Amino acid sequence: MKALLPALFLAALSVGSLLAKGGPAINDKCPVDGKAVRIIYRVFTDKGTVAFCCVDCMDAYQKSPGRYTVTPKGPGQ
Ligand SMILES: [Zn+2]
Repeated sequence: MKALLPALFLAALSVGSLLAKGGPAINDKCPVDGKAVRIIYRVFTDKGTVAFCCVDCMDAYQKSPGRYTVTPKGPGQ
């Protein structure tokens, strides 16, 4: 179990640098299928950074953004 800690620390660091680049995502659920998002899959829109669960959902959204509703995160999350 101890071996997991450095990996988690590195993962947290890389997420932090991604957030610094693009700004935090406005959503935490994929607008295409409602799954939990991964910040590496994201698109910059006029509403802010929209995140997706996978590259397929990101492509689907980019092809027709009007089809999907982005639900912003609730306060305090
Ligand atoms: Zn998705």
